[in-house]
Amino acid sequence: MEKEQSAFGLPFRVTRHWLSLAAEQLDACTRDARGVPCDPILAQALPSDAESHILPWELTDPLGEASHRQAPRLVRQYRSRLLVRTTGQCFMFCRHCFRRSLLPEETAFLDDSTMASIADMLRTHPELREVLLSGGDPLTAPAGRLEQLLHTVRSASETVLIRLCTRAPIVLPSIVDDQLLAILEHARPLHMVLQINHPLELHPDFLSRAERLLRSGIPLHSQTVLLRGINDNVDVLTSLFSELVKAGIHPYYLFQGDLAAGTSHFRVPLSRGLLLYDELRRELSGLELPRYAVDAPGGGGKIYLPEGVVRRDGDQWILRTPSGSLCEYPEEPEQY
Ligand code: SF4
Repeated sequence: MEKEQSAFGLPFRVTRHWLSLAAEQLDACTRDARGVPCDPILAQALPSDAESHILPWELTDPLGEASHRQAPRLVRQYRSRLLVRTTGQCFMFCRHCFRRSLLPEETAFLDDSTMASIADMLRTHPELREVLLSGGDPLTAPAGRLEQLLHTVRSASETVLIRLCTRAPIVLPSIVDDQLLAILEHARPLHMVLQINHPLELHPDFLSRAERLLRSGIPLHSQTVLLRGINDNVDVLTSLFSELVKAGIHPYYLFQGDLAAGTSHFRVPLSRGLLLYDELRRELSGLELPRYAVDAPGGGGKIYLPEGVVRRDGDQWILRTPSGSLCEYPEEPEQY
């Protein structure tokens, strides 16, 4: 890891590999009027004064995970899925992270008693069809602990699908080595979901490691966060999604920004996001087009866009959640 210090609650941490993707040098990076780095790679990693700008409708727990908490680190919002927050550690802390206020509370990898709780839930709830391992980044765990967790899940259920959410292969490609491949292969069926936000992140080293994952029987999917000044234009997203498909990675989601405190400078107004997605639909093939979605603020689940839009009332969008209830998402002005 390159550097670490505190900034607005979320530490600054980045890898040398990530910095090598940037066109600008860390110490000479240019910043816009908001203080946000102009380089799309550095903007995702470097703290800026804009993070101290907290809007009244922003939330520390934007997805309302606390209200679905079953046990420490275990969240069950949907009948068939169990989310495990394995750790608060990441190889890089993304400035737009929607869990940015929660990560510092959970610095260690989950303990043996939480693993026992996971096994217990899987044994007593056969309706659970999927376990999502998230964090932080599960791949920051020592190999032995990751192996123990995967073994625990697989011993409790031979059939449950494991979804491993990580940025590690993007920010530190060398993490994908023979040892990790063997551990993951042993835990199949296991799908890996990678957050990838810009074509510059598709470094040849990452692409060759992605190929090794695919050859090991680990399907790969991408999640992209729509980020202002980083990827909020059709050309960048078209290039990203078409390159992903060529690499065998399924473009899964394009996320409208969550209302995480201190991230308004990254959010694209929903009206513009909808127009952008409309253009992408015309430009991309069905294989290349991810689903555009937003999480209902404060909980309520994932809402597909534009399908979930009911109407716009002035500066509020009225959206329909998966359960049929209505929620509000603000139409925010382009800040600054
Ligand atoms: S890797 Fe994921 S969990 Fe970690 S800071 Fe980035 S977005 Fe947040």
